[in-house]
Amino acid sequence: MSFREFTHLSPNRALEPVNACQGVLFHHTVLSFSETLAKLSDPASQVSYHGIISKTGERCVLVRDAEIAWHAGVSSFRGQSGCNRFLLGLAFEGDTYRYPLTNAQLQSVLEWLVPRWIRYGWSLEWMIDHRQVAPGRKNDLNPSEWQRLLATIEGAVASGALVTRPPG
Ligand SMILES: [Zn+2]
Repeated sequence: MSFREFTHLSPNRALEPVNACQGVLFHHTVLSFSETLAKLSDPASQVSYHGIISKTGERCVLVRDAEIAWHAGVSSFRGQSGCNRFLLGLAFEGDTYRYPLTNAQLQSVLEWLVPRWIRYGWSLEWMIDHRQVAPGRKNDLNPSEWQRLLATIEGAVASGALVTRPPG
């Protein structure tokens, strides 16, 4: 299965410092895919993600990995504050409290992760959601949907679909 991916760069990004790309911070958009694209294309919003995944699995790239997207706000993870500097921001279309992540979203996120897992040497410990890095301030993702997402990524690691280094 392969999902369509297109690029629509957001004005809401910083080229420096270079993103450390240590892991991924997951979000949900609440707004629809098209509404989110419009918001993230508006400089007045001052908000962006590296990518959005629609309910059908289609992906839009808004900020290049090496650049800083503006999605985390006041946040900390694994002893570092300001998650925008070291985590990529990836958002799922929808409100995970109202609707579960679709199977297409769960398959599409794996497609997005595969090349980066090798390139950046990622591990499960560096996958996190907004709720956990900004406790009491942000509620995405729904904890049960976070568990589904994590189980999907864990399954891909266990099956060898996500590998830190190429075999051999
Ligand atoms: Zn969020």
